Amino acid sequence: MPRSTRARPSRRPAVARQAERVLPKVGRTLLRAAGNRATLRLLRSPVGGRTSSTAAQLRATLPVFDPRLAYEVAGLTDRGRVRFGVSALFMPPEQQLELARHERVHSVHQQLGAEGPGAADRTRAESLATSCSGAAGNVPLAVLLSPAPSRLCFPKQQKPPWDGVWIGNGAVIGEVDGSTTQVRIYLAYEDLKIDELPEYQTYHCRKDRSKEAKKMVATMRKVAAVVDAINALIPANSEARVTLVAITRTEASGFRFANKHGLIAIETKEDWVHTAAHEGGHALLEHHTLFGGAKGKGFGTLALRVADLFVRLGATKPVPVPDKKFNKRSPPSLKGGGQPAGLVMVNDSLWAGSGGHSWDNAHEFFASAFAAFRREPELLKAIVKHYTKADPAIAALSTEMFAILQAAGDAQEVAKLAALPATARAGAEQELQRIPPTPDWSSKGGAMGYLIDPTTLPSPDKIRCP
Ligand SMILES: [Zn+2]
Repeated sequence: MPRSTRARPSRRPAVARQAERVLPKVGRTLLRAAGNRATLRLLRSPVGGRTSSTAAQLRATLPVFDPRLAYEVAGLTDRGRVRFGVSALFMPPEQQLELARHERVHSVHQQLGAEGPGAADRTRAESLATSCSGAAGNVPLAVLLSPAPSRLCFPKQQKPPWDGVWIGNGAVIGEVDGSTTQVRIYLAYEDLKIDELPEYQTYHCRKDRSKEAKKMVATMRKVAAVVDAINALIPANSEARVTLVAITRTEASGFRFANKHGLIAIETKEDWVHTAAHEGGHALLEHHTLFGGAKGKGFGTLALRVADLFVRLGATKPVPVPDKKFNKRSPPSLKGGGQPAGLVMVNDSLWAGSGGHSWDNAHEFFASAFAAFRREPELLKAIVKHYTKADPAIAALSTEMFAILQAAGDAQEVAKLAALPATARAGAEQELQRIPPTPDWSSKGGAMGYLIDPTTLPSPDKIRCP
């Protein structure tokens, strides 16, 4: 959790609203330079006119002028660091000075005070900053040592059909709760078809709920159920357990780590439920790989058995890579090179209609096969039957594959899986070692950063309905 984020809405003059629409890139750069000089001057002015005041002697962080801040955010203080937005430039000088002082009080408070998550801390921090941002007054040290809130932005709302919504300046983050995971989506106001300004107020105050949002939430609940079922196979203390599913336009789908937990990213244009099952398969295998891998105990039996099977299926006859869903009446061609038939047969394109690269490595093979087995077991059997015609070796290998997949979906069964014979161990370990490590997104920025920690989403600190 970040230390603190505070957003302050400005009264936006009409000229600012126009500038927001037409401001060319060059203009933004010039504004940035002007802003830095202006804010520097502001920050050199002493708090309450007394250079010897306690606050003035503390590390005064210079504000960063950040044109990427949502337009309504004039200034915010994030972990002691003051940032000013474009709209601060259009404020009259007295208002800018007041803003600078207000943010500086937050900055000092965040640097000195202990972290306090309570609503009372939030109210106190606001009244402290407000009372000290006027011309008069010293900042009492005792007050600055009081807990600083971990969140100063507009708090999470419970707004049906969502279980929770963070209302930001440029976007909202909608959340659906699973029993072991959270599913979140980042939605810009234009995605929500809201163009009435200020958008956050329009969103917060209106009553009607779009059909799209209801549909989206229903799908997200299915995603949560799929991930909860996979999490049931991963112990609560495992870093691979998925605590967040982030649906995003800006990142490709994948299994990742964030803050020592599993994270599934789903690209909006994909089938969310199928993708959740595939990435959940990665999470499960990651647990069996980590389980020993990271702690030096060696890889788990499931991971070794999967890798060994991957190596043997990799020796089956190559067939063309299919690009559409399996159709019994016109099954995919078995003639001509491509990828091994035994690895192609589990690929997502065949059972889900798109995606997958099951021949890449043992992790991808397992994710595709596991998802197929859970989502479309009958279809998978039909596909396997077809590919057995390409290479008769697939008959015995697929029986073994189904047994492994069956065991993988049962916490008791998986513990009973027969260990790999010593002769096959080296090959399986080698296969697992060549799999690229799972990326860690703990310090990811942009929309994904907001999805990982929605309390960092720039937002107004209050929204009043007209
Ligand atoms: Zn994958």
